[in-house]
Amino acid sequence: MNNNNKNDKNKFYIATAIAYSSKQPHIGNDYDPVQADAIARFKRMNGYDVFFSTGTDEHGQKIEEIAKEAGVTPKESADRITGMIYNTYKRLNISFDRFIRTTDDDHNESVKKIFVKFYENGDIYKDYYEGLYCVPCESRFTPTQIKDAGGVCPDCGGNLREEKEEAYFFKLSKYREKLEKYIEENPDFIIPVQRKREIVNNFIKPGIQDLCVSRSTVKWGVPVEFDPEHVIYVWIDALSNYITTLGYNPVNTEQPDLFNKYWPCDLHIIGKDIMRFHSIYWPVMLWSLGLEQPKQILGHPWLLFGDEKMSKSKGNVVYSDELIEKFGADAVRYYLLSEMPFDRDTSFTYVNFIRKYNADLVNTLSNLVNRTVVMTEKYFEGVIPEPQTTVGVADTPFQKGAVVGDGVPDVPQIDVDTDLIETVISKSGDYAALMNEYRISEAIETISAILYRANKYIDETEPWVLGKDETKKDRLKTVLYNLLESIRIAGILLSPIIPEASGKIFAQINTDVTDYETVFEFGGLKSGVKINKAEPIFMRLDEKKILAEIEKE
Ligand SMILES: [Zn+2]
Repeated sequence: MNNNNKNDKNKFYIATAIAYSSKQPHIGNDYDPVQADAIARFKRMNGYDVFFSTGTDEHGQKIEEIAKEAGVTPKESADRITGMIYNTYKRLNISFDRFIRTTDDDHNESVKKIFVKFYENGDIYKDYYEGLYCVPCESRFTPTQIKDAGGVCPDCGGNLREEKEEAYFFKLSKYREKLEKYIEENPDFIIPVQRKREIVNNFIKPGIQDLCVSRSTVKWGVPVEFDPEHVIYVWIDALSNYITTLGYNPVNTEQPDLFNKYWPCDLHIIGKDIMRFHSIYWPVMLWSLGLEQPKQILGHPWLLFGDEKMSKSKGNVVYSDELIEKFGADAVRYYLLSEMPFDRDTSFTYVNFIRKYNADLVNTLSNLVNRTVVMTEKYFEGVIPEPQTTVGVADTPFQKGAVVGDGVPDVPQIDVDTDLIETVISKSGDYAALMNEYRISEAIETISAILYRANKYIDETEPWVLGKDETKKDRLKTVLYNLLESIRIAGILLSPIIPEASGKIFAQINTDVTDYETVFEFGGLKSGVKINKAEPIFMRLDEKKILAEIEKE
């Protein structure tokens, strides 16, 4: 149950895919950093030394073309979109340690040398590229892949462009067997399991062709050092960010401490659509450089709009910024993290967003905190009461079977207390296990179970009845203490999910007992402390009014 073993304390490096700076990402794209942030915060809370990297991919033909249309330089175009992405991440409270841009000097220098190293290792050769290319995806496909997709891009369904040019190729085929064996021998390398099956069956088993890794028709990219007419293929450039963000450069006689400490990556968080690049190109690149493989690659599902993928051309794009503006960062984080299953796509609707907000954040969480804080003010002048137990009956105040109140066994009361406490403790254990498997939406359900139980406890104990009877004062102390303590524990479990609200909970109940290890034992909250004034953490949304406003926009 307790996953907080002190001996486990070590480093944890987590990286998201870097966002492409061609257009403002929609809320579905922002799932990457939000999911990674929840995991990074959870790991930090567990005592891990975390390095969290995210950023932007700023090279390639698409950005070159967009800039040309807009009459600006590619760098200016990328700067503008990267600025938006960076600001959105900041507003979403994404706690990254480095926001890397593929236009950063250190990254560019390293990518040049990485390419040289591939070449020197004999993994790269020059030939001609002839075939079809997808501009938006910056991808080339084999004739079979194109045929299977019906003549269009297998990834995005868009039209392909005919191209012939002199180019460098990476000997991916040389690594096919090694890769297949590696994936087989490391069953947790690619998760969830259906992502792994797709990669093995659709891409590795049919045979891997050598990859074209340079372009001479594109100028906006990292030039090949020994042949500057060519720029390095954007995926080689982009994937390298996971090591350059730590200061890696193959020319270093010794890699920097940051790299030595954090590599290999513990977890890559990516969308399922780019699994192929991360589970084929990336491992092979690392082998060529003589580096260790990342420990795990998680391909998350998509957030759809209705039944479709969000896309600007379909006019069904929802942006995080708009939702943050209306509902706050925590609401967006909570929605994404609680609605997105581990392994299935889900759909965004405003109705669902608003209903979930009202049901979970307002009714279940905010009202519980508010009622409890208000009652503590009313009955105990805002001072956290001491729970009352009969000395000698139980070794610890909360041991199962402890007698509460005036020492006269009162079976129903003991039962509800025990049940509340056991629910809080057992759900905290479930939460830990699920968070360690990155099953965040399921972990959130365990927090909800605690909150439901605490709300039910109010109905069962009826503090307003106890408050009218002076002889029930001791019982009331226990009841409010148990509620405040349940809220404190829920606040800790919520901190990786909705950090702002979690901070507000701690402020209202005025506690500094917020260490993760304290959730596994009930009773950590200090009595005798004066709490702060009750203020709702989330306010009820008027569904009709908001939907009408959105309709008008
Ligand atoms: Zn495409």
